[in-house]
Amino acid sequence: MIKKHKKVLSVILTCAMLLTLALPALASAPSEKNYIIENPYDGIDWDAWDDYKTQLHCHTNASDGFLPVQQFCDMHYALNYEIVALTDHGTLNRGWNVAPEIVPLMRIIKKERTNNNAPIIPVDEESYQGYLNGTNPDRTYTTTDGDLLERTTTNGMLDVPLGNEQNMATPFADCHLTSYWAEYGQGYAGVFGDYETPCREVAERDGITFLSHVGEYVYPDKDSADHVGQKIDEYYVNKFARIFLDNPDNSLGMGINSATDAHTRCDRILYDQILQKTIPNGVVPWGNTFADSHNETSINDAYTMSWMPELTLDAFRTCLEKGQFFSVSHFSNGVELNGMEEMPGFVEQDVYDTEAYWLDNTPQVTRITVDQDADTITVEGVNANIITWVSNGNVIKRESLENGKATLDLHNDEFLDEPYLYVRFYLSGDNGICYANPMVLNVEGEEFAPVDVPKTYDLPWFLRGLVTVLDVAIFKFNPIIWIFKYFGLGYNPIERIFQ
Ligand SMILES: [Zn+2]
Ligand SMILES: [Zn+2]
Repeated sequence: MIKKHKKVLSVILTCAMLLTLALPALASAPSEKNYIIENPYDGIDWDAWDDYKTQLHCHTNASDGFLPVQQFCDMHYALNYEIVALTDHGTLNRGWNVAPEIVPLMRIIKKERTNNNAPIIPVDEESYQGYLNGTNPDRTYTTTDGDLLERTTTNGMLDVPLGNEQNMATPFADCHLTSYWAEYGQGYAGVFGDYETPCREVAERDGITFLSHVGEYVYPDKDSADHVGQKIDEYYVNKFARIFLDNPDNSLGMGINSATDAHTRCDRILYDQILQKTIPNGVVPWGNTFADSHNETSINDAYTMSWMPELTLDAFRTCLEKGQFFSVSHFSNGVELNGMEEMPGFVEQDVYDTEAYWLDNTPQVTRITVDQDADTITVEGVNANIITWVSNGNVIKRESLENGKATLDLHNDEFLDEPYLYVRFYLSGDNGICYANPMVLNVEGEEFAPVDVPKTYDLPWFLRGLVTVLDVAIFKFNPIIWIFKYFGLGYNPIERIFQ
């Protein structure tokens, strides 16, 4: 009997010993993953480079804005902008010192904005050079409400070539996108829902595109408030993911929060859904923010901080291609899938009441340090209290910044949800929000499960085909259509017949 007991005891002891040995191994099992973190900000010299205040999307009265180009330049200059891409509807920017070709029909329809179709007077050559190199002596601007704005930087203000907001004519649901560096789209009306054609045409001309305020297309009633915190229909996810996969070097991303975030509040969730389709296929579209200003008070609503070694157009294009920018807004109405508000307690009216939109004390990232051995990401920032980490559409962590610093430890942090595919973060503070571009999380020895992104044969695809056929069969050689194009859309149709 005793012998038997001894035997049982020794079995128990052996098991206990094995369990003790196994426990640490079990506990550290998740740590055995070795992440290879793809950091778009890798390569930035945080001490030597600078972040330049950038506006990627804005309007003048050359299309449907209220501001003449002189006032537009003065305001951006006084608001410390260092890079400005003018993107009027269907109207290519050939420099603020050159009168653009215009789209007469648009200006007539919006005549209350264009000051009854007032003539477009470009800025004179001397002031233009002064904006570009920062020597323009007129450094202040007094707004209609009596606010004095003053330029404090000595830098110049770059004029991004050939900015254009494509697809101006949409009976409902604005399916807009902005393009740069491409001679395409002057006077083009576009086809409803057809993002694909301008993205492809711009790519063929070596330009770049960003989808604009996609929420205005996804929710044609523009009432995205009814859809906060909800996933977007798969149809849209596939449609937009396909665009990024088809033009990986030229369709660089999408607006995720534009103007006052009224129509874009669901676009971060859509963005996360798109990332889950494109990242396994090797493509990471960037998310940007922009003012889409049409009048005075909206010029500083949202902007981009571009990290570059020098303030040149070449450096700027590289910055956009690599995603080495942070996207800032004074506004956030976003709600995460798990119900957390992006900016807890954000009250939009406060921004208007305090005119906080004039200020540049929005959260900013000043440094990112990725430790590939420890698998940690450390973020430093200013004007920020909270950092929120998102992976695959879910908040995985939210915490306060300690002395403007926070670290995500992929092995030891306790997560609300497990990080997978990628992480992105945003900083929030008393005056706004600042979004970073996603970092892909490759796991050594593992591959992402393949994700199929089917081509969408949808109504816009059909309409595009129909228009192409009608164009060749009827419109292209029809003198009545020529007259409409010449007087309504403002271009010479005969010159374009064989383009
Ligand atoms: Zn638009
Ligand atoms: Zn716009």
